Amino acid sequence: MSRPLVIITGASSGIGAATAQAFAALGHPLLLVARRLDRLQALRLPDTLTVSVDVTDAAKLEKAVRQAEAQYGPADLLVNNAGVMLLGEVAEQDPAEWRKMFEVNVMGVLNGVRTVLKPMLARRRGTIVNVSSVAGRKTFPNHAVYCGTKFAVHAFTENLREEVSGSDVRLVTIAPGAVETELLGHTTSSAIKGSYQKWKEGMGGALQPDDVARAIVYAYQQPPNVCIREIVLAATRQGA
Ligand code: NDP
Repeated sequence: MSRPLVIITGASSGIGAATAQAFAALGHPLLLVARRLDRLQALRLPDTLTVSVDVTDAAKLEKAVRQAEAQYGPADLLVNNAGVMLLGEVAEQDPAEWRKMFEVNVMGVLNGVRTVLKPMLARRRGTIVNVSSVAGRKTFPNHAVYCGTKFAVHAFTENLREEVSGSDVRLVTIAPGAVETELLGHTTSSAIKGSYQKWKEGMGGALQPDDVARAIVYAYQQPPNVCIREIVLAATRQGA
């Protein structure tokens, strides 16, 4: 039996790339989106449409989803994973960085949800996984605005879950602690980057992207009447 379409945003590196590999190994056709097309193509996954999309461009994201569905059938899973973490002290940080985080981490998730929600409601089937963070449940130094975006992802996902639960559409929040990816590299303060790196080393290394991918696969593979509402996972030695 052929498997249904899985859509993953931010699939060009880190958690998204690992999740793409995991679902490809299970035989799912994929739509992979991110801005760096070369990195999506370098994954060389079978039955995969790769499109360069900025998730803040709702129309372009919608177009890519419709194109993938024309090719592979209706999307059964959307993993809203694209995100940016620009750590900084509020008094010092450029508001352009605040805006960027809200646009990608919050509006990007909403744009993704909008592409699949109505069709899933009509089919009475489908799963949306939103990748939040432990920083969506508690605060950390230099994370004020990033935490603001991830608390928003948590709240939105749980509220939408309530809203559509009667239509058999599942909403899942994945909340990882520190993971070894490219995420930290975009923070502009080298002092903050350095102390974060030391924090990760102090816990004997963070999670690997594949650790998070397995959690996403686990949530998705439950029977349709079981909704894993949230998975919080971190390195055992991450105390915070
Ligand atoms: P990476 O930086 O490795 O991956 C981020 C992905 O998001 C990339 O594929 C990037 O692709 C994509 N992306 C960023 N901005 C946009 C955009 N505007 N439009 C489309 N795609 C975009 O980091 P992670 O794998 O760690 O991050 C994935 C998610 O996990 C994020 O939501 C992050 O907040 C969350 N997370 C990460 C943790 C960690 O410690 N690493 C901990 C908890 C949560 P491209 O640049 O090609 O567009």
